[in-house]
Amino acid sequence: MTRPYNFSAGPAALPQEVLEQAAAEMLDWHGSGMSVMEMSHRGREFMSIRDQAETDLRELLAVPSHFHVLFMQGGGLAENAIVPLNLSRGGNVDFVVTGSWSAKSFKEARRYCNAHLAASNEADGHTGMPDRWQLNGNAAYVHVCTNETIHGVEFQELPDLKALGSDAPLVIDCSSHIASRPIDWSRVGLAFAGAQKNIGPAGLTLVFVREDLVGHALGVCPSAFDYKTVAENHSMYNTPPTYAIYMAGLVFQWLKRQGGVAGMEARSIEKAGLLYDYIDTSGYYVNKVDKRCRSRMNVPFFLPDDALNDSFLAGARDRGLLQLKGHKSVGGMRASIYNAMPLAGVQALVGYMREFAARHG
Ligand code: PMP
Repeated sequence: MTRPYNFSAGPAALPQEVLEQAAAEMLDWHGSGMSVMEMSHRGREFMSIRDQAETDLRELLAVPSHFHVLFMQGGGLAENAIVPLNLSRGGNVDFVVTGSWSAKSFKEARRYCNAHLAASNEADGHTGMPDRWQLNGNAAYVHVCTNETIHGVEFQELPDLKALGSDAPLVIDCSSHIASRPIDWSRVGLAFAGAQKNIGPAGLTLVFVREDLVGHALGVCPSAFDYKTVAENHSMYNTPPTYAIYMAGLVFQWLKRQGGVAGMEARSIEKAGLLYDYIDTSGYYVNKVDKRCRSRMNVPFFLPDDALNDSFLAGARDRGLLQLKGHKSVGGMRASIYNAMPLAGVQALVGYMREFAARHG
């Protein structure tokens, strides 16, 4: 079956092979007589699914053994509260704002700690990387969003806080580019990611936290969101999002068959390169992000006249190119080209963009 190419920013397209496997296993998982959705999370069948998912995830991302891997719920926005509840100790925390998602994290953290804006790219409309960071000497952590899904701004390298004079752990919201590039764990204290872009269905949140950072939650932190409680119970303190974990596990196995994160990174460079090169040379479409921090996953672009947007989107839909409308706060278009988007999908998009520009240019 041929499906349209889906450029949604999230929940986003999943690999077809994964969806087909899930469909085949829907009524009877591996001869158990049950759907994964119907299994006890403490039964041996689901425990084997969970354990395999964690093993594969650790292998794919080369997660060091002194990090806990937690399967949680609540998404990125819940983590905006859960992280300060666990790590801030009610003290100072530094935020670097590079787009809407880090701005939201900063705002939420102020409810739990003394959040300080260390750097921001707001003045340039969230299109560049702020170069001067004013880090607090005694911050409990420094928060960055390593890929801004709405503005299309991505850190090409994780900041080296030590080199910037800070001993604080780095917290990264990597929701929208996890598993598309390696993570340098030597620079990270905690990473979180909602699953619904590169990992699987919405409802699952991945948290990777260095062991020494757990066990310091504020008294008001809900038990189900205390990383220590979650870690001690192997993410089974409350009922985890079992089906989403199963789907994520299928995606991890698919990723391994595709050459792992290194394979995904090479493909992403090719796909994003094709799209940005076309936009930049088209003389018609525009992407406003500084070339040094353009996202490989989320590519916002503008037509010369907003009055053409509806016609562009309708033509795209007719050609099986779905969900290209830009976020309402930015406007224009946005092509999200996560791991599950094949090169052929980006080629089809560029082909259509070329055709549209020739017709209207
Ligand atoms: N952070 C980033 C980078 C995101 O892209 C999103 C969702 N698009 C969120 C946080 C919020 O995630 P959720 O809606 O799952 O809370």
